[in-house]
Amino acid sequence: AKESGRGQVLFYEPVMDEKIERRRQLAAAMNGALERGEFHLLFQPIFRLAQNSIASCEALLRWHSPQFGPVSPAEFIPIAEENGLIVPIGAWVLEQACQAASTWPSGATVAVNLSPVQLRTENLTVMVARALKDSGLPAKRLTLEVTETVLLDDVERSVAALTALNAIDVCTTLDDFGTGYSSLSYLTQFPFQTLKIDRSFVMDLEHNPASIAIVQTIVELAAKLGMRTVAEGVETPAQLDQLRRTRCDAVQGYLLAKPMPAAEVAALFAEAAIG
Ligand code: C2E
Ligand code: CA
Ligand code: CA
Ligand code: CA
Repeated sequence: AKESGRGQVLFYEPVMDEKIERRRQLAAAMNGALERGEFHLLFQPIFRLAQNSIASCEALLRWHSPQFGPVSPAEFIPIAEENGLIVPIGAWVLEQACQAASTWPSGATVAVNLSPVQLRTENLTVMVARALKDSGLPAKRLTLEVTETVLLDDVERSVAALTALNAIDVCTTLDDFGTGYSSLSYLTQFPFQTLKIDRSFVMDLEHNPASIAIVQTIVELAAKLGMRTVAEGVETPAQLDQLRRTRCDAVQGYLLAKPMPAAEVAALFAEAAIG
């Protein structure tokens, strides 16, 4: 609290200051973090419901800062987007993810999250093509996940970027579907091969009949538009049961597998090959 004029006491939020200060410190710590090897990837399997096999693994970025310990991507990615570091970091993620996936069975794809900042870079397709070439991963085995909330900022540009990716055979997934402003016409405007149904609907599946109806409708609509569906954040057998009933294509969540190091994914594939 500060004394102001006329004897008034103004309370300002120390919490706000702390948040701004932490953001500033994290931004500083992020400089050179890539070069120092502070980032690594985990992979979370996505299972085909029909065959119970691994369809894909999503690459999830982790930052272990010597100063701050593990920092959540939910916290550091917005900072990296603001200071532009997401561009080199994102390119590194793509390289690493393609390299890991090139050792998996040929039926398995890798899903990589793409920041809206990356979607707007001039040479995105060139960067993606290079990661594919260097790793030897066929383009068809890469899918890029884009969150729907960002697409409307610049519809034409988003459509152009996604179309260019599709043109080199890379697949695209609309991530967190249902959380943004998606109108039905909007769905047909953007070239996506997969819809990822947001965790908020999956969470509600057990208790809220409205969520069952929504998920059912999303799956049917996607099928009619020729898109596949993945449900994220599956945590309970009841949710999984419900998703089976809606004939969703694939599921991802802690119930089935947590994000794991590349070596564990490789072991999982080896096991599946034997068993
Ligand atoms: P996302 O793309 O929606 O990723 C799914 C998040 O849900 C991941 O969190 C994952 O660990 C978590 N998750 C998976 N299954 C479950 C479950 O059953 N229950 C719950 N409660 N959570 C589950 P994570 O790894 O902390 O990532 C958070 C977000 O950070 C991601 O959300 C994505 O938007 C972003 N992110 C992560 N890696 C990257 C990256 O390499 N590049 C970009 N641009 N963004 C990334
Ligand atoms: Ca994602
Ligand atoms: Ca998601
Ligand atoms: Ca989500």
